[in-house]
Amino acid sequence: MGQSTIGVHAGYDKNFGLGTTSVPIYQTTAYNFRDAEHAANLFALKELGPIYSRLTNPTVEVFEKRFAEIEGGVAALATASGASAIFYSIINVAEAGDNVVISDNLYGGSITLLTHTIKRMGIEARVFKSSDASNLEDLIDDKTKAIFFESLANPQITITDIEKTVEVAKKHKVLTICDNTVATPILFEPFKWGIDVSVHSASKYTNGQGSALGGVIVEREGLNDFIKGNDRYYHFNTPDESYHGLVYSDLPLPNFTLRVRLALLRDIGASLSAHSAWILIQGLETLTLRMEKHSSNALEVAKFLELHPKVQAVSYPGLANNSEYEKAQKYFKDGKASGLISFEVESFEEAKRVIDSIELFGVVVNIGDSKSLITHPASTTHSQLSQEELLKVGINPSSIRLSIGIEDSEDLIAALEKVL
Ligand SMILES: *Cc1c(COP(=O)(O)O)cnc(C)c1O
Repeated sequence: MGQSTIGVHAGYDKNFGLGTTSVPIYQTTAYNFRDAEHAANLFALKELGPIYSRLTNPTVEVFEKRFAEIEGGVAALATASGASAIFYSIINVAEAGDNVVISDNLYGGSITLLTHTIKRMGIEARVFKSSDASNLEDLIDDKTKAIFFESLANPQITITDIEKTVEVAKKHKVLTICDNTVATPILFEPFKWGIDVSVHSASKYTNGQGSALGGVIVEREGLNDFIKGNDRYYHFNTPDESYHGLVYSDLPLPNFTLRVRLALLRDIGASLSAHSAWILIQGLETLTLRMEKHSSNALEVAKFLELHPKVQAVSYPGLANNSEYEKAQKYFKDGKASGLISFEVESFEEAKRVIDSIELFGVVVNIGDSKSLITHPASTTHSQLSQEELLKVGINPSSIRLSIGIEDSEDLIAALEKVL
């Protein structure tokens, strides 16, 4: 089935229960067992079913199944936010003494998580150059547990050399984890390119309305075979003392997400709520349509900005002169490049003036909303950085970032024209 059909139907049996056309919201903490044996079987994984909503919930499960299918993965696990999905995907494989190799172009929250927070747990982050993965192989050793990158990076708007990254990873049998938030499963299908695990902030394009936080971890089909007997991932191949000696790789269930559920959701519990899952399910229904519109609108806006005399530079991977254009054509569906644009005006002051006087655009530090959003990183998200530091992380004091929504492109262009 195609992604539009999957987005509307997958994961929900409309003949189940009362046959409601809308997925029911199971607003419950726990579930009644039929009897003591039923309970014992569930805990022993002899029978699968809901026990407690920190681990599974039927509404959340519909979202997980639908997301896994839309991305072409074998299983998914939902979390309370994108940040928790990333944290879990990393600590599912790495512990004190290990290292992870991470992209030089990442979301700000991922940079702090991976270089500061997990460092306190004894996990080292080594940074590779994602534009060509030229130094990736040199950074890998026998303690390397994952290579983490974004398909289309937020906020840098760059694209990872995915083919090279995956090739090096396969050679050394290291797990690849791709944050596919900005490209979404609609524009980029990670498993077709050999990536092992994808993670998402569902709070962005999946939700599409800036109305709920959520995250997802998806694993590819066949990941169990990669894990089985792979010494790097001995946790999966040796008895888990915390689960009365369970060996994950002996189970026929998708190992990666299963271990996040049984160990990390159990012990840390950043679970997605049933209500938020329901909101995100509504988002999945229209995701294919919206990604088309975000991408076509952004291309039109980028083309307009490129020709405007007040604009010094425009960065959008859909523009033929952009450094990322070739990669967008290669990896993304029909070369479509999602909704993020960055452009530069004359000065810091001019950038502030544009933000203060623009109509229609919301001045918001979010992305992926149906409503167009605008930010000035130098005076907001990155205002703590010095001029020098700003340039080091690739942020020009006069650059403005746009998350283009699904409005009529003529209206977005008119709003920008007026203020410029
Ligand atoms: C927003 C974002 C995150 C974090 O997700 P939350 O849902 O806000 O926790 C991670 N990665 C990328 C690329 C993001 O844009």
